[in-house]
Amino acid sequence: AKALGENQRRRYDPSMDDHAREQNRLAAELRIALDTGQFHLVYQPIVELPSGRITSVEALIRWNHPEHGFVSPADFIPAAERNGLIVEIGEWVLRTACAQAVTWRQTLGDRAPQRMSVNVSARQLTEPDFPGLVTEVLAWTGLGAANLIVEVTETAVFAGGQAVLAVNALHELGVHIALDDFGTGHSSLTLLQTVPVDVLKVDKSFVDNITMSGRHAVIASALIQVSDGLGLIAVAEGVETGEQAAELHRIGYRRAQGYYFGKPAAEPDFERTTAITV
Ligand code: C2E
Ligand code: CA
Ligand code: CA
Ligand code: CA
Repeated sequence: AKALGENQRRRYDPSMDDHAREQNRLAAELRIALDTGQFHLVYQPIVELPSGRITSVEALIRWNHPEHGFVSPADFIPAAERNGLIVEIGEWVLRTACAQAVTWRQTLGDRAPQRMSVNVSARQLTEPDFPGLVTEVLAWTGLGAANLIVEVTETAVFAGGQAVLAVNALHELGVHIALDDFGTGHSSLTLLQTVPVDVLKVDKSFVDNITMSGRHAVIASALIQVSDGLGLIAVAEGVETGEQAAELHRIGYRRAQGYYFGKPAAEPDFERTTAITV
């Protein structure tokens, strides 16, 4: 075993050791971050087209590291998924977002967004009783099931039976299901035949260049037709310009999200409406 170990060590790229050490350090720091309140949530508006009226918000996690400052969720969420801490982090996200939705309802009344959208990773979805946790959090906060949207990715749901069972159970509770980053996975259309989905979040990659490239417009337009045909709501993600918004509206999109309508913020400006003109 020693010889094998040495063999392997000889083939190791020293930067790989650094990488493994870095991953361990990150895992330990995530634990501390959760225990000492270094995470917070920001909320990005999802708007109706063409009015720009905010219908819901998506909760997005932020990590302000005491030494390194802002760490992107694109970097630490995959690490938390690998070491399993995403289960606890995700529960914190769910509780905090649902509680915030109820607070806004109390302080803003009808001006509060109708729904709160929460990202749920595959690891969380396949926990033994994830639907039970959601039921408990809804009861604990007083948020209605119909006011919660759970965002899952295609790869998460396609991962297997347990995830599909969980999605069905959530749907039974009255929670809305959104398929995130739609179109980027391998089985988008197959999945729509078997999983109860309410919302399709059409990935930013289909929105980018929509005004410049006929090919992008054709695909974005095909996706809205699938969505409409199945009676789903399509949300165009990553809309950055008024031109993109106008083009999306023209080809039939009625919901959008992106910096053009509002960046993620701790307290979004719910009065602000960015109506599209055309
Ligand atoms: P996502 O769920 O696809 O979230 C959308 C990402 O696009 C967010 O990045 C958002 O800030 C960004 N975005 C929104 N509009 C625009 C735009 O117009 N232009 C550009 N360039 N970007 C835009 P963020 O917050 O950095 O999150 C990255 C990813 O991390 C998320 O992608 C999601 O997969 C994951 N994530 C974030 N928060 C959570 C969470 O609470 N739980 C889990 N499981 N994953 C999370
Ligand atoms: Ca999302
Ligand atoms: Ca997305
Ligand atoms: Ca994404």
